[in-house]
Amino acid sequence: MKLVKTIVEVREQVKQWKKEGFTIGFVPTMGYLHEGHGSLIKKARENNDKVVVSIFVNPMQFGPSEDLESYPRDIEKDSKYVEELGGHLIFNPEPEEMYDDGFCSYVDMSVLTEELCGLSRPTHFRGVCTVVNKLFNIVQPNNAYFGEKDAQQLAIIKRMVKDLNMDLQIVGCPIVREEDGLAKSSRNTYLSEEERKAALVLSKSLKIGKELLESGCKDAGKVRDAIVEYIEKEPLARIDYVKVVNALTMQQVQDIKGEVLVAMAVYIGNTRLIDNFMY
Ligand code: AMP
Repeated sequence: MKLVKTIVEVREQVKQWKKEGFTIGFVPTMGYLHEGHGSLIKKARENNDKVVVSIFVNPMQFGPSEDLESYPRDIEKDSKYVEELGGHLIFNPEPEEMYDDGFCSYVDMSVLTEELCGLSRPTHFRGVCTVVNKLFNIVQPNNAYFGEKDAQQLAIIKRMVKDLNMDLQIVGCPIVREEDGLAKSSRNTYLSEEERKAALVLSKSLKIGKELLESGCKDAGKVRDAIVEYIEKEPLARIDYVKVVNALTMQQVQDIKGEVLVAMAVYIGNTRLIDNFMY
């Protein structure tokens, strides 16, 4: 397993691999890896000859008052983990390697980015689309792996690849959870012991919503209200949003028909957590 910090080094390695006829799987991350990331790396290993993992805390996708500086980082531990899982290359650039002084080109998407997380984080998806586009151009993978944990991001990346005729497959991977149901996240490390317990309202309230749908409820408003009512009982929780949207367009629905995404962002103390399910 090799760790490189420059675009030139990634290009050289990938060029060599392609010459030898190897396929390339790519897993973009912000690091502080956990089993959620691990599941993506394993999937990439299964279906590709070589696996590239990027570890880059992308400044462009953080808002001015967000946690860019405090975002957890541990490149040594991450390197060991990628090696254990059989990854072949880590790309870990500094921000200056990705964005030089004159940088001024962006990938902006409408519609899908304007709902859910896009409302409370208005510049977030511009940062995500731009960096993912750059990373795809650098790594030139055959397949790229994204978690359903960030369901809106996954839908956006799939749309971007389609709209801009990018020559790769996007593979979505299921949410990996702690034993008690909390979705694994690098940001869970911010939680105090008390907040960690309170954070269970996300997965537990989603379960209530899912049960309602499974019992035949077709009213998105009712599903949403039941989820909100459950979360509001937890004093440490503050809802950013709870919404039922069309799984492809991310637009709110009133009646449940076709595939829907039930998604939420909830602050537990100062930590903003997201969770969702598809139905
Ligand atoms: P991040 O490092 O948080 O930007 O995440 C990198 C990738 O890992 C994204 O595609 C995430 O959706 C995915 N991911 C993060 N947490 C999980 C999880 N608990 N289960 C599955 N995928 C995840």
